[in-house]
Amino acid sequence: MPQIAKVIVDVPTLQTNRPYDYQVPDQLVDTIKPGMRVVVPFGKGDRKIQGFVVTIVDQPEFTGQLKTLEALVDLQPVVNPELLQLAGWMATNTYAFLITCLQTMLPSVMRAKYTKTVTLIDEIEPALKASLFNDNDELTFDQNLDPDKMKQLMTLQRQDKVSVTYHVGNRAQVKELTAIEPALTFEQLEEARTGLRQSAKKQQQLISYVQSLIGQRPPLLKDVLKQTTFTRENIRVGHQKGWLHQIKVETYRNPYQQAVAATQKMALTAQQATAVKQVTQAATADSDQVFLLEGVTGSGKTEVYLQTIEAVLKQAKTALMLVPEIALTPQMVQRVKGRFGELVAVLHSGLSEGEKYDEWRRIERQEAKVVVGARSAVFAPLSDIGVIIMDEEHEASYKQDESPRYHAREVALWRSRHHHCPVILGSATPSLESRARAQKHVYQLIQLTQRINQQPMPKVELIDMREALKQQQTTNFSAPLLTALKARIAKGEQSVLLLNRRGFSSFVMCRDCGFVLQCPNCDISLTLHMDSHSMKCHYCGHEEAIPKICPNCQSHQIRYFGTGTQKVETELQTLMPDARIIRMDVDTTRKKGAHAKLLKQFGDHQADILLGTQMIAKGLDFPDVTLVGVINADTALGLPDFRASERTFQLLTQVSGRAGRADKPGQVLVQTFNPENYAIQFAQKHDYEGFFRYEMAVRHRGNYPPYYFTVQLTVSHPEEVQAAKKSFQIAKQLRPILSEQAIVLGPTPKSIARINNRYFYQIVIKYKQEPQLAAKLAEILETTQVDTRNGFKIGLDNEPLQFT
Ligand code: ADP
Ligand code: ZN
Ligand code: ZN
Repeated sequence: MPQIAKVIVDVPTLQTNRPYDYQVPDQLVDTIKPGMRVVVPFGKGDRKIQGFVVTIVDQPEFTGQLKTLEALVDLQPVVNPELLQLAGWMATNTYAFLITCLQTMLPSVMRAKYTKTVTLIDEIEPALKASLFNDNDELTFDQNLDPDKMKQLMTLQRQDKVSVTYHVGNRAQVKELTAIEPALTFEQLEEARTGLRQSAKKQQQLISYVQSLIGQRPPLLKDVLKQTTFTRENIRVGHQKGWLHQIKVETYRNPYQQAVAATQKMALTAQQATAVKQVTQAATADSDQVFLLEGVTGSGKTEVYLQTIEAVLKQAKTALMLVPEIALTPQMVQRVKGRFGELVAVLHSGLSEGEKYDEWRRIERQEAKVVVGARSAVFAPLSDIGVIIMDEEHEASYKQDESPRYHAREVALWRSRHHHCPVILGSATPSLESRARAQKHVYQLIQLTQRINQQPMPKVELIDMREALKQQQTTNFSAPLLTALKARIAKGEQSVLLLNRRGFSSFVMCRDCGFVLQCPNCDISLTLHMDSHSMKCHYCGHEEAIPKICPNCQSHQIRYFGTGTQKVETELQTLMPDARIIRMDVDTTRKKGAHAKLLKQFGDHQADILLGTQMIAKGLDFPDVTLVGVINADTALGLPDFRASERTFQLLTQVSGRAGRADKPGQVLVQTFNPENYAIQFAQKHDYEGFFRYEMAVRHRGNYPPYYFTVQLTVSHPEEVQAAKKSFQIAKQLRPILSEQAIVLGPTPKSIARINNRYFYQIVIKYKQEPQLAAKLAEILETTQVDTRNGFKIGLDNEPLQFT
């Protein structure tokens, strides 16, 4: 019976966003399976591209001449049936292409690498052959070829003097090392040894050693050389004489070379024990119940996760634990590895592509049973999942801000239904959406109200910067904060200082005419970067020199304003010359391992003050930190985003939680220009529940989530009029299918209206129940496809987290 493979091809456009039928060649009929990557000819030129097999059928749907599939990329499926199904769901739910969803689920090395070779098929001028082809008949096409040569090649192609071949490469490389294994039986080796000269001591020893390897796992050559007295030459002789084989074995790149000390499980507090019990019972009952674990900072949520994982491992199941990227600290990894050792696979952006691929294969082969990772680890190919844990579930980084715009929480819930396993959403400050669902008993609420060892919550004091600035020079440090910092140094205790937001508007402004240096491509001011001594645009990457004179009025009074971490560090060092400061921000942690190194230095008391951005607010657990200072609590409050208060509350609560985690009491000082703001007030009182009730009322009045669902449609074009016109057209198409209850905001220019020379307009639809909406939006995407040729880009974001 002929077989037809339905293949999703690696061409991310709407026209190609469906399976294509391919004839399976006879020799592959029994081998090919859904979930394998294949190479197929595609389009008019039969260009070779990669695709994913989604199903195998007997009858083609396509009525024309079928093309034949070219080759298999994999010997086994790389996407299992569950994940194939998930990809389909995600594509619909996020308005993304299926191919993009499939690729998102796999380690990036598994994306196809396309190369082209250009082959001479006719005589050409010798000079041209020498310059273009280096006197060969073939060259590998390189997009960076200089324009003149590119033109010459194109001419040759038009004259049919060259042919172009496409190749699909697989970059995923398995790392192999040499190992040795016996080549003969014990008796044969014995015989070989007795045949040796009496004086050939080393060879006799080698034979005994090889005999000892019989029935053992072949040791790696490098280990043999390290652990025995045999040299490379001895081994070579052994191989030559036929006593041993040198073989290639697959190994994993191990990103965690240093052994992690084993940790013991702790005796749980009563609240922790109840939490573990409830989730474990749900796991035993194969229930897909969702638990919201609302636990104050320092209440021991991690121990609840670990003991739940232990319980599901005992039931021969696996566990998936998601952590926001910046909270995936070496401390966190150690806690989990310390408990479950080799069973743990870790996935995060700090790993090299090869390391990620190796961790992925350990999961796929069921060697790793516990996966800890950031957002995309939610696609880890675990089977028999017994529990899915999402720590800091409120974190915005769980939502991907490029296609597919999925939220890891939604994916986790989908997988929990598929595996019939419970989910724990953990946080000290749950998202309003999740907390509201617990209120309605959609989720089961579990609260940990006590810190471990009955530690009190740290005392939070607000410092009114409007007052402080009246009494002193413009500076980032109020007198009370400085006094507190000095007192800690005197006592040998440590402090953590938070500066809200990356490089926080270190913009350059002329003090004479007010001119602010702007990005030439985007409507946004350039940020000063002292490390590279340049001005950078955080949106498009544009970079230029720091101006010495004002381009507008030629004044020399052009200075930088605002507060970057570097500037604060310099200022602090001037104010406190003896303080040892570690600065942690994107600039100091860019290098691999830098993050871990800085934290270790701080943990080892090589510094008194850890100064950093958001990345220090989460998950750090240092017993000697007794002071937390927040330099600017307000910066996020001014953003045009209805979640601004929620984010501010979360950040302040998280960072306060870093103080007084051991037996010494902690103090928190928050500098603010808005001491009356409710988010800051509730954070001061550690009152999440109070904040929740207040903010729910605010959201109710404004018709915002969680009372309404939202979807955002963005139109962009190089010309502003075009973008505006198109967005109004689309809004007009939408209104008739919406009910009275739906609210359409816009079209309006986005708050940064121009990025990379494109103008952005947005429409936000708030709704409760609109059965026709999803289909209509998909239809709009479809019908506006033709416009992409005219420079339009149209994007949809389901439940956006960013409104700016
Ligand atoms: P959270 O994530 O809720 O902020 P952690 O999980 O970091 O809290 O726990 C805070 C501290 O309490 C950690 O140092 C942890 O090792 C310790 N801890 C947790 N549970 C227990 C327990 N049952 N007994 C003793 N110490 C505990
Ligand atoms: Zn000027
Ligand atoms: Zn820019």
